Amino acid sequence: MPTANKHRKPEASAPCLCGKEKWAECCGRFLNSTHAPETSLELMRSRYAAYALQNERYLMQTWFSATRPTPPLFAENEPIKWLSLEILSHHEDEHDGVIEFVARYKVNGRAQKLHEISRFVREDGRWFYLDGRFPDSRSPDNKSLDKPKT
Ligand SMILES: [Zn+2]
Repeated sequence: MPTANKHRKPEASAPCLCGKEKWAECCGRFLNSTHAPETSLELMRSRYAAYALQNERYLMQTWFSATRPTPPLFAENEPIKWLSLEILSHHEDEHDGVIEFVARYKVNGRAQKLHEISRFVREDGRWFYLDGRFPDSRSPDNKSLDKPKT
């Protein structure tokens, strides 16, 4: 099983899980709570990294209170491995952000794709994830982030 070390954080100088910069200078500083994301895109990327690490605490903290689910977010030994994040579009103003992305992952060795349009809101200077929808509902391999089908 390739799941043994999946929760381990990258080294500070390793590439970030979101694929952008060095872990410590990218999503690592948000998951370590030393910085708060200044844009909805930074939040989006760091939440992707949090999914990859199954960091439930960070995901709950950055979920808008009205739409926040009840934990646990992850099943024990969830056989999911996140592979890559691709941002298709990003729009935001002072209060709202909208990001369309494709995230690729593997479940039990099978490649899957999540295509989602996420909405974010800013409250008291902090960004939160509000909700998401799937623009490409014809695609049978679109899964909810919260409940990946195994
Ligand atoms: Zn990152």
